[in-house]
Amino acid sequence: MNITPEFINEKTWTKVLNYIALTDKESPYLLIDSELVREKVSLIGKGIRNSKVFYAVKANPDIEVLKLLNSLGTGFEIASEGELQMLASIGVEPERIITSNPMKTFKFLEQAVDYGVTYYAYDSNAEVEKLARHAPGCNVYVRLSVPNEGSEWPLSKKFGVEMDEAAELLLYAKEKGLNPVGITFHVGSQCNNVYNWNAAVDKARDLWEAAGQHGIKLKMLNIGGGYPIRYTKNVVDIETIEKKVNKVICQKLPHDIDVFIEPGRAVVGDAGVFVSTVIGKAKRGDENWLYIDVGVFNGLMESIGGIKYAYVVGSRSDVMTWTLAGPSCDSFDVIDREVELPEPETGNRLLILSSGAYTISYASEFNGFSIPKTILI
Ligand SMILES: *Cc1c(COP(=O)(O)O)cnc(C)c1O
Repeated sequence: MNITPEFINEKTWTKVLNYIALTDKESPYLLIDSELVREKVSLIGKGIRNSKVFYAVKANPDIEVLKLLNSLGTGFEIASEGELQMLASIGVEPERIITSNPMKTFKFLEQAVDYGVTYYAYDSNAEVEKLARHAPGCNVYVRLSVPNEGSEWPLSKKFGVEMDEAAELLLYAKEKGLNPVGITFHVGSQCNNVYNWNAAVDKARDLWEAAGQHGIKLKMLNIGGGYPIRYTKNVVDIETIEKKVNKVICQKLPHDIDVFIEPGRAVVGDAGVFVSTVIGKAKRGDENWLYIDVGVFNGLMESIGGIKYAYVVGSRSDVMTWTLAGPSCDSFDVIDREVELPEPETGNRLLILSSGAYTISYASEFNGFSIPKTILI
């Protein structure tokens, strides 16, 4: 494993190899390069005027990750009392927390209000009524539905409303004593299509004007998450996305607005490397199967939704084509197919690159396999 593979930051790779060489920690575990997280945090938002970053905690809620981000002064986007409690335990001020889940549980809402959180997303009349009752006077922003084409993890169907309904929802919130401050959207996670942000900001601009005509002066645009990372394909870079977004915002919206950004994947994704062990090999029909100790249920859930990881294995043997599977007895637990890798021995390490986001946060203890630990390096 001496050569830096194609799909990883060189410094991260060196740190990972050193860590593995110097410890004999039992796999599986997830390494996160804290320096790369730092770099990403300082990069994100740099290209957008008046922007503030709120890390989407669901991408990786490990306490050490949250402490690191807290020390860097980032904001946080949360959706549940569990996420809130983690932030409270490390002393994150309520002004640095927002919630963009348009459907909040009662328990979460009560705790968030108690804690002092004042920014809430919504996309229905029922949520306005819930907020008016439990969080009177709070700041609200409406979730607009926008194109998700070209995103590997589309989110558009679950939440968001069209223009007319959004305008009515802003009015309804005002009528119920809430403070309508802005608009949000999500272009879909792992979005590799710059056009989605253009289309979304355009749509938000139309809604902004419509709201103004009804006497509602908005002041915040929340552009959600979606910044992509490199798995096995090159992606559009953050600078390019932000340049385009900033241009549209500057051209089409008032000068003094606040822009919120809620990156999850882009903050921690490519800083993470899963360290696993090959636990078995088998030939089944024409296929070569490789089994490792992390799988779909204890960390690699996104692999069944279309995320294709890059892998590195410690072996100099001939390259073969593998079906890569996890350790559980469920037939869903197949991570990848047609993976080209040199043949490892059982017991060898297998590394999964760019696996810092949406891995541990999705993991369960299904079939008795424990959730891998996260270690910052
Ligand atoms: C998940 C989520 C995010 C983060 O999305 P990424 O694609 O990981 O950047 C941001 N905002 C909301 C409302 C989300 O649900």
